[in-house]
Amino acid sequence: MTSACGQDNYEVQRKALVDELRRDSLVAVEYGAPPLSEAVLDSIGNVPRHEFVPSTHRIYAYENHPLPIGGGQTISQPYIVALMTELADVSADETVLEIGTGSGYQAAVLAGFAKHVYTIEIVEMLGLRAAQDLERLGYDNVTVRIGDGYAGWPEEAPFDAIVVTAAPDEVPQPLIDQLKVGGHMVIPVGPVDEVQVLKLLSKDADGDLAEKNVIPVRFVPLTRDPN
Ligand code: SAH
Repeated sequence: MTSACGQDNYEVQRKALVDELRRDSLVAVEYGAPPLSEAVLDSIGNVPRHEFVPSTHRIYAYENHPLPIGGGQTISQPYIVALMTELADVSADETVLEIGTGSGYQAAVLAGFAKHVYTIEIVEMLGLRAAQDLERLGYDNVTVRIGDGYAGWPEEAPFDAIVVTAAPDEVPQPLIDQLKVGGHMVIPVGPVDEVQVLKLLSKDADGDLAEKNVIPVRFVPLTRDPN
């Protein structure tokens, strides 16, 4: 819906979602998650999630759930998008790599904090659609590439933050190599179709990684390009 009335309605729903995430964050803190900052909550309040979900699911766009986006893939739950953005801890002069563009929503949220977001999607149809949506909505600091994100994006590395939104069994070595000293990687790790652990990896001056398990999560698997 593009009528003034429809847009107002989305704004009301978005505000209610922000209030819900603020409350959820209080509970998640008890399980070891960091609190969501007002800056991250504001970004959830500003990015039009309904523009990133298929029209058939738009009425659910501001519920705190994942939704199907085609190709067997999903747009992540808003709380998880907010949490990953919080953990990535990006500032305005920094560049971010996202693996798993999906709908483009997480990239749009990160774009509000970063100088540039590079994002890779393995399913061509999804990557092309996300690139189109991001451009239409004016996110001009996001670049989408179609490919296997396991290899990262060496031409633009190193990155201040890397956000992986599909779950591998182990952290891909190319992504570790492409993380800057002082940078953070947020990544779900674990077996397909089981609960994974959302990890926060931070690289110290010696290139060593400190690893923190944040919360249990469930993501689609990181698939590999057979070529
Ligand atoms: N961040 C997305 C949600 C991602 S769902 C959003 O905001 O909507 C995970 C996505 O990762 C899916 O679109 C899936 O196709 C993609 N994916 C899986 N394996 C991948 C890989 N090796 N490289 C890049 N993308 C991958």
